[in-house]
Amino acid sequence: MPPAPLATTPVGRFAPSPTGPLHFGSLLTAVGSYCLARQAGGLWLLRIEDLDTPRVVPGAADTILHTLDALALHWDGEILYQSRRTSRYTEALDILEQKGLIYGCACSRKEILASAPHPGEEGPIYPGLCRHGLAAGRAPRAWRLRVPARSVAVTDSICGRQSQHLAEDVGDFVVRRADGLFAYQLAVVVDDADSGVTQVVRGQDLLTSTPRQIYLQECLGLPHPCYIHLPLALAADGEKISKRHGAVAVGREEGGTLIAAALRFLGQAVPAELEQAPPEEVLRWGVAHFDLRRVPKDSRPLPEDVRACLS
Ligand code: GLU
Repeated sequence: MPPAPLATTPVGRFAPSPTGPLHFGSLLTAVGSYCLARQAGGLWLLRIEDLDTPRVVPGAADTILHTLDALALHWDGEILYQSRRTSRYTEALDILEQKGLIYGCACSRKEILASAPHPGEEGPIYPGLCRHGLAAGRAPRAWRLRVPARSVAVTDSICGRQSQHLAEDVGDFVVRRADGLFAYQLAVVVDDADSGVTQVVRGQDLLTSTPRQIYLQECLGLPHPCYIHLPLALAADGEKISKRHGAVAVGREEGGTLIAAALRFLGQAVPAELEQAPPEEVLRWGVAHFDLRRVPKDSRPLPEDVRACLS
């Protein structure tokens, strides 16, 4: 793997998964990461996370690009598509293998469920059945990273210090899936490092993934970016906003209003006179005034007026 680029310029990024059109939840991440990167005088990169091909919706990536463009969220440089980067993920996997940090796992989901002593936040914690080698006659399906029996901590700029005991809270996690696809955790770490990302801004649903990513960075000798996890916009039923909950695509007509709504959701005091302004003008205000200290920690329901403006 080539050495990571020197982090002289701040580099932020937006990394949507093309599983549907941009919704208000992803708009929050786009606007937050854009304003923070630009405010720092940095680059704002775009990465399409189309690695999980079964979940990719044809045409969704282009819809997202058009919406970003219409909202004046203009990115720097080439778009990075994860689906075109499997050779880089293979190289990273090879490094982990050479270091003896990964092992083939033959377990089916059913076997893991049957023997997992206790469930973790994201499903059963792998009980380590294949950790010391495969049973005779069994072939590896997935590849798992051996995690250490210690805590890995990260200080998030909004949520504060987060510590996870990888063995107890997560278990040996998958870096290459049984269907042959590379896992999100591995891809994101390789991509962020290759692009020289210094600032990861994303939703709080990924906060618990961060210690795993920090550990992978340690294993691969990659630098740690700083992490900023934004509060989530929740649907009326308290679940994260997603297509399932009727989030809708955002368009140009109400662009400035939506950007202002996103900034307000993130605690920023957007002046009322910007309400009807074009998106570029609202973004200019956001870049000049975005204040991380004002961002609330807690996820909360989407305000009624925003909901109305989306539907
Ligand atoms: N692709 C992820 C999402 O759309 C974001 C991943 C990341 O920012 O690390 O939620």
